[in-house]
Amino acid sequence: MDKNIWDVAIIGGGGAGLTAGLYASRANLKTCLFEKMSSGGQIALTDTVENYPGFPEGITGPEISAKMEEQAKKYGTEFILEEVAKLEEKNSQFIIRTSSGKEYFSKTIILASGASFRRMGVPGEREFTGRGVSYCATCDGAFFKNKAIAVVGGGDSALQEGIFLTRFATQVHVIHRRDKLRASPILQTRALHHPKIDFIWNAVVESVSGSGKVENLKLKDVNTNQTRDFKTDGVFVFIGHDPETGYIGDFVKLDEKKYVIADPVTMETSRKGVFAAGEIRTGAVKQLVTACGEGCAAALQAQYYLENLEQH
Ligand code: NAP
Repeated sequence: MDKNIWDVAIIGGGGAGLTAGLYASRANLKTCLFEKMSSGGQIALTDTVENYPGFPEGITGPEISAKMEEQAKKYGTEFILEEVAKLEEKNSQFIIRTSSGKEYFSKTIILASGASFRRMGVPGEREFTGRGVSYCATCDGAFFKNKAIAVVGGGDSALQEGIFLTRFATQVHVIHRRDKLRASPILQTRALHHPKIDFIWNAVVESVSGSGKVENLKLKDVNTNQTRDFKTDGVFVFIGHDPETGYIGDFVKLDEKKYVIADPVTMETSRKGVFAAGEIRTGAVKQLVTACGEGCAAALQAQYYLENLEQH
């Protein structure tokens, strides 16, 4: 029996992967997309997307990801709900091995598995995840109706999600390790003037504790090294992301932070026939619109690569 060989195998179903799927399948390439849970990536966990062109009123993260998935499927992208464990190349063909022990074959690969949220790495964090520690405001915000909560971080995610959480919480205390925010000016202005948001500057969380659920954070002032207890009903952590590249090993070159090194125009990695798009790529602008643009570019490059293969 002939083995099934895909033209394009996309790993990751965020903005980059879904757009790559749309472009590759519209080019009549036999395209599959691997996603370990549900598609949408980080954007599906975002409340409102206000800066994707074409939606002047904004659109919710789950809504835009569902639409992107529908559009990729409409033109033939096949979704494979499996976790990719390893990549190999044999006889000019790529093999995608999954955690469940299956193998898939493809002529090209687009790496688009993005990045996942970073943990604080302090005592109590793991133990209380799902019991007051959260990394997703859209998923868990409603559990904190009429409660006072903390948000850790000073970037766009912390402020955007912190503002969203004021819909439920009585008060949102933003804990930031410096006295200057990293977030964009528009979000800073909104958060700094929000009646339900206040800031705890120059502070880091040292531990999370409680009985059965989060009740207390141990906060350390980074200037004086003094610690104090801070009562809270929950803590949302938005301190950045780390790339999802564990399955890549040395299949393509990674930078020192484990992001994939790829040409920012052609999306080519160190291995011919393998492209990278979106937040997984070193130096990527971490926005939905650029992730989609890179997914498009990677799919077009995969198409040219396949046309070239046929000619030779
Ligand atoms: P980010 O920009 O990397 O910000 C992470 C924040 O967490 C920083 O304020 C950082 O402090 C702090 N931090 C990092 N490690 C920490 C630790 N171990 N303990 C305490 N604090 C720590 O991450 P992000 O906010 O998730 O954003 C990621 C990317 O997505 C950015 O490019 C952002 O612009 C983009 N994004 C855009 C939007 C939007 O356009 N509306 C929304 C969300 C995200 P320092 O400032 O001191 O480094």
